[in-house]
Amino acid sequence: LPGKPFGSTNTNADGVIHKSNHQVKADGYGHAVDLYPYVNGKVDYNGDAALITIADHIMTVAKDLKIAITWGGNWKPPVAPVDKPHFELKQ
Ligand SMILES: [Zn+2]
Repeated sequence: LPGKPFGSTNTNADGVIHKSNHQVKADGYGHAVDLYPYVNGKVDYNGDAALITIADHIMTVAKDLKIAITWGGNWKPPVAPVDKPHFELKQ
């Protein structure tokens, strides 16, 4: 989540009973990533404008390639917290 350092716990998934989509699935791959802009030699954890530009690009390319992706920036509380750095393959 924005403002949280890399590697911190971001979900209610405990990693055992409730698996995060970041964890390796049966196919051997994680199905989610968190991305942050890297600006002037530093990771920008609060760069909303840059994240929206990145998301626009990723979603456009994914659509062109017919890859179904969910962007955490489109999530709506209380179902799921808005999570702009988060991208995952649709189930
Ligand atoms: Zn994530």
